[in-house]
Amino acid sequence: MVLKIILSENYHETDEYFEKSFNELEEYFNFGWTRNIPLLFLIESRKEMDLLEGRKTEDWCMGTTKGRLVFIFSPESLEKETCHTYEKNDYLMVIKHELVHVFTNIISKNKYFPDWFWEGLAVYLSGQNNFKKKVKEFKEFLKYYDNGGSGVYYESGFAIELLINKLGKDKLMDLIFNWKNITNKEEFDNAFKKIYDFEPNYETFNKLLK
Ligand SMILES: [Zn+2]
Repeated sequence: MVLKIILSENYHETDEYFEKSFNELEEYFNFGWTRNIPLLFLIESRKEMDLLEGRKTEDWCMGTTKGRLVFIFSPESLEKETCHTYEKNDYLMVIKHELVHVFTNIISKNKYFPDWFWEGLAVYLSGQNNFKKKVKEFKEFLKYYDNGGSGVYYESGFAIELLINKLGKDKLMDLIFNWKNITNKEEFDNAFKKIYDFEPNYETFNKLLK
């Protein structure tokens, strides 16, 4: 008997992009990853997403990660199961976005990050900022520490971009790789202050924008 596996016609494209993103992020984080590398799974229904998350998920949620595994709605199921329309480039960037979460998680050994930092890094490194209107004034992203929400994806990506471009990638990498015992907002803000000489606040971020 011949085992027949039917792959989505988009399979090769998503898989290739996943591999390309993996190589880019490996280089960016300077993190050699040879064993138990990340895997991409395409899911077909909201029910599967709800099971993965252990709750009823919002219709804007397109993907998630569990350890080194990335789950994302297949191109064919995206419009049916989410509020998004399928656009190839947007879709591919979501794959990279989720993969950034996997890298951050593994490298930082699951330390606590505020949602704005966690999502901002994924938005920035996946290139999603390039398709958004530039922020003129920060006034929202620091609301997102322990709570997520669809509003976290806008300002936070630009906040991370500024931290990297104006204050250096090394500082941000230091925070992700080296700082230990970050388990809550207070500890994160303290570590952030030791590295950057300020606690996260709109005034300083808005100055960096100038
Ligand atoms: Zn995310």
